[in-house]
Amino acid sequence: MSVRTRFAPSPTGVLHLGSIRTALFCWLYARRRGGRFILRIEDTDRERSTPENVEAILDGMSWLGLDADEGPFYQTERFERYEQVLAEWLETGKAYRCYCTREELDALRERQMRAGERVRYNGLCRDRTEARPGVDPVIRFRNPLDGEVVVDDQVRGRVVFENAQLDDLIIARSNGTPTYNFTVVVDDYDMRITHVIRGDDHLNNTPRQMNMIEALGAAPPVYAHLPMILGPDGSKLSKRHGAVDIREYREEGYLPEAMLNYLVRLGWSHGDQEIFSREEMVELFDISDVNQSASAFNPEKLRWINQQHIIAMPAEKLAERLMPFLVKAGLDPSEGPDPVHLAEGFHERADTLLHMAAGARYCYEDFEAIEPKSAKKHLRPVVLEPMRAVRSRLAGLSHWGKTAIVETIEGVAEDYELALGKIGQPIRVAVTGGPVSPPLDVTLWLVGQARSIERLDHAIELIAQRAGQTR
Ligand code: GLU
Repeated sequence: MSVRTRFAPSPTGVLHLGSIRTALFCWLYARRRGGRFILRIEDTDRERSTPENVEAILDGMSWLGLDADEGPFYQTERFERYEQVLAEWLETGKAYRCYCTREELDALRERQMRAGERVRYNGLCRDRTEARPGVDPVIRFRNPLDGEVVVDDQVRGRVVFENAQLDDLIIARSNGTPTYNFTVVVDDYDMRITHVIRGDDHLNNTPRQMNMIEALGAAPPVYAHLPMILGPDGSKLSKRHGAVDIREYREEGYLPEAMLNYLVRLGWSHGDQEIFSREEMVELFDISDVNQSASAFNPEKLRWINQQHIIAMPAEKLAERLMPFLVKAGLDPSEGPDPVHLAEGFHERADTLLHMAAGARYCYEDFEAIEPKSAKKHLRPVVLEPMRAVRSRLAGLSHWGKTAIVETIEGVAEDYELALGKIGQPIRVAVTGGPVSPPLDVTLWLVGQARSIERLDHAIELIAQRAGQTR
């Protein structure tokens, strides 16, 4: 039997971390087993489903590289098929028309609540043969009255439901539109889904769905219900814990590789390994290693994982990813260093591409002013002469290379009997406007000769002024 999984989002909202994690596990399992991954858009809720949300889902999936082998299928394009099954089931008695009015059902509910009974449909229309004039009926599935449904869940273990606890579910509304639990079953059946992997908020739907699959004459798929993702504080994951739309993480400069790596670890583990490439995930993932307890979203860990992927990414690839962020930061990539060199220089000091682009601004543009605290601390009269020497020797270099830059600075330090740091930090502050940057040779090399000299001149002027004032 070849594995077929599906991701079945409802476009009533955007793709969030929980839904992506579900999609990822479905995709991984299919890839791992040489199976197929199917994308199905469950858009039957026409009021709350929007084309923008569909776009958000497709866009997010494609950014993450969770490619579907089949689909996207849209439930709204399958109404004929649902009607066909409804007609068959009415014909064979697997379903029936229910003419109970809303008022009657409300009264029933009230009675049951008052008596402390479980609220459920009492099956009044099960044996009705006559239509009731003036009432548009709903259609209900004739659920077995007794026996049990056993969900042999791959994550939760064996979960048993009594049929006596389930009532006859409405599968089509009075206006004829099919309902969620029914369309899922018809689709899972038609699409020959072998493994249903989804959030455990659907566990309670599963026995009803299994009964309906059986009514279609098929064996149920294997189920795996994934535990919730909670906020860092243990409450339900929501907006106040971070971005909701997965695309916001793209805007913030997270790598899709890192997002997947972070999400795979929410509920799944392989020893204590933290960093996984896409290939490793495919190779190692198994549903049997998914744990039962809910996991908490941890934004710091996400940033850390992102940083690890940034560090590990080949510079060419990283530069390509960085490019749009430079442009978005208003920088002109042609006005500065080769982005591949930039990526090499900066990859160890940024946790997102957005931060990397922001941190590299001084390689492309002059800054307004040197950070006052750094200026005060590092641009002191004692370094005036060594800074002048650095400036003139660097200006004299006929080849602007890292080795030449280092040797020049070392030469000045030696001649003036200064520790390297004593002259290094003033140079850094002069050239970058602040106290942190990649190694000095890399920094100057990236900034370029002309710009470096200009900025040294400016810093020397400041130091000279200061020396004049204090003299
Ligand atoms: N459309 C459902 C949802 O977005 C998922 C249905 C399923 O996976 O069975 O929650």
